Amino acid sequence: MREGLLQEKLPGGKARCLTCARRCVLAPGQQGFCKTRENRKGKIFTLVYGLLSAISVNPMEKKPFYHFYPGNLALTAGTWSCNFTCPWCQNWEITKKPPDPDAGCGYVSPEEFVRLAQEQGCQGVSLSFNEPTLLLEWAVDLFPLARRVGLHTSFVTNGYLSEEALEAVVAAGLDGANVDWKGGLEAVRNFCSGDSEVVVRNSKLLWSHGVHVEITTLVIPGVNDSPEDLRLLATRIVEELGPTTPWHVTRYFPAYRFRAPPTPISTLEMAKDVGEAAGLRFVYVGNVPGHAGQNTYCPACRALLLERDGVQLVKSYLQGHVCPRCREPIPLRGQPRV
Ligand code: SF4
Repeated sequence: MREGLLQEKLPGGKARCLTCARRCVLAPGQQGFCKTRENRKGKIFTLVYGLLSAISVNPMEKKPFYHFYPGNLALTAGTWSCNFTCPWCQNWEITKKPPDPDAGCGYVSPEEFVRLAQEQGCQGVSLSFNEPTLLLEWAVDLFPLARRVGLHTSFVTNGYLSEEALEAVVAAGLDGANVDWKGGLEAVRNFCSGDSEVVVRNSKLLWSHGVHVEITTLVIPGVNDSPEDLRLLATRIVEELGPTTPWHVTRYFPAYRFRAPPTPISTLEMAKDVGEAAGLRFVYVGNVPGHAGQNTYCPACRALLLERDGVQLVKSYLQGHVCPRCREPIPLRGQPRV
């Protein structure tokens, strides 16, 4: 049990949680929207400091990160619950459950986690599986330790942090973020109970702080799969983050409470075309093993630069960060590790 890092005392024993953009006001004994914070005698405590639902060694490509330390491994962890309500959640066994100290991996200290990452031969640590914002206090302890021993740090996030939390994780040493842009205003409000403008604002803030940013959109039939929906998202990425921002359009499969059929591959190919027509130079088709859209091609001469098979980087043809054929610079953090 740890006191929440970001909170504001209010009259009558109430307190406002400043961890995510919901800014829940909690009366004594009350839990927040995410069920990971609780007001105890006028102060908010996190119930999930170091309480990990799962730990695994994952390639960066699995997150997905394609321009951030390609081929590296990151020891990855998440906790329980979420601050969004998406009914299609692909990780619902973790995100739709309140914190459970008797399940998953139990308590793991930041020191232990860094030691484990080194023992497992990882080059980074990553918070994923559920919304990493909920692990804020653990992340700000973990990241400086990880950076001190040369590990990179990343978040796979819905981008619904408070500005204060965003500043705190950046100050702690966040290197990369894959931010989920789930759709337009209406889709995010109706399905996720969130505000897509906050997600856009935070993506831009992370980027302006020098954090490497990639965007993922799970393309879901009937939610965000029209050419117009996709064009709006792609145009916004170009305007807010620039045309070299990688955009992953990934395949949805029915999960949790959502029963729409899996995304047709032709829809993902259309999304890739729409993204490129909007000006994005690196659009990737995800969750379709063997698809050519998972490789990196030079946006100038179309030479194959990074070849992938599922979540594995198979081969790099890059010379440093440059296309070997036409010398086009390719924006990339770190060197590919095949
Ligand atoms: S983390 Fe977000 S959802 Fe959870 S209690 Fe704090 S403000 Fe509310």
